Amino acid sequence: MQIEKAPELGLCFGVRRAMKLLKEEVRKHGEIETLGPVAHNHQLIEDLAKTGIKMVNNLDEVRCKTLAITTHGASPNILSSIKARKIQTIDVTCPIVAKAQAAAKNLVEAGFSLVIFGDARHSEVKGLLGWANNKGTAALNIEDLNTNITRGLLLGIISQTTQCQANFRNFCSALITSSASSLKEIRIINTLCLETQRRQEAAIKLAKNVELMIVVGGYNSANTKRLAEVCSPITETKFIERANEVNSSWLVNKNHIGITAGASTPDETIDRVISKLKLLSSSR
Ligand code: SF4
Repeated sequence: MQIEKAPELGLCFGVRRAMKLLKEEVRKHGEIETLGPVAHNHQLIEDLAKTGIKMVNNLDEVRCKTLAITTHGASPNILSSIKARKIQTIDVTCPIVAKAQAAAKNLVEAGFSLVIFGDARHSEVKGLLGWANNKGTAALNIEDLNTNITRGLLLGIISQTTQCQANFRNFCSALITSSASSLKEIRIINTLCLETQRRQEAAIKLAKNVELMIVVGGYNSANTKRLAEVCSPITETKFIERANEVNSSWLVNKNHIGITAGASTPDETIDRVISKLKLLSSSR
């Protein structure tokens, strides 16, 4: 049985950068906390906790001197609350998310109503709405948009960084079709993350050549879910978090298996999945 890894998979530069900065900081202070998960992956969070980098859910839980703003960023309101409490911070917001925050802020300051193509419950999107001074709306379907916001004369559209390019294109096109007649100007800023796009393109290409795709990553990771979404229409696809979820029945009559992994999946998790597959295939 052939096991083939997608040429682009696993930890992205934003998460690797964040982990490097946090590890440097924890070496200085012994222990630090992160406001929410650094990235949406349980193993990664567990591994960081062992080194003294622990997660808190809100500012009331903060006990350490230093609090980290995670790769997903935070809204200006949260940053002000942290400052008011005199908590020292280290900001590891991914530079690509920071660019999307600047795009949201600039569009709103220029008088545009802002629409974000994304999951309104995701921490990155909550942060983007905050940078838009809460004058924006976020949704994955135009039917779910707050119509008061899309009724202005100037409309700006951006995307949650980890969404899929084709879906963003379709969303923009549907929004333009439904509201262009009443608008004076529509400005679309492509805030998609290229790292995520490259992982999706590599996964799609590989999915076309294999009998089973295994997508490895956090169930709560937006970009990993997207990998499973783009592969499943092409070939049989399984989405797992850990190696122990691999089931030998999946391998029956399979000669070629593809592996991809989300941008927050540690290298060790991918290696363990591959070892488990090899073990199961050798015992067939
Ligand atoms: S997936 Fe992209 S936007 Fe998100 S942390 Fe990684 S590099 Fe940054």
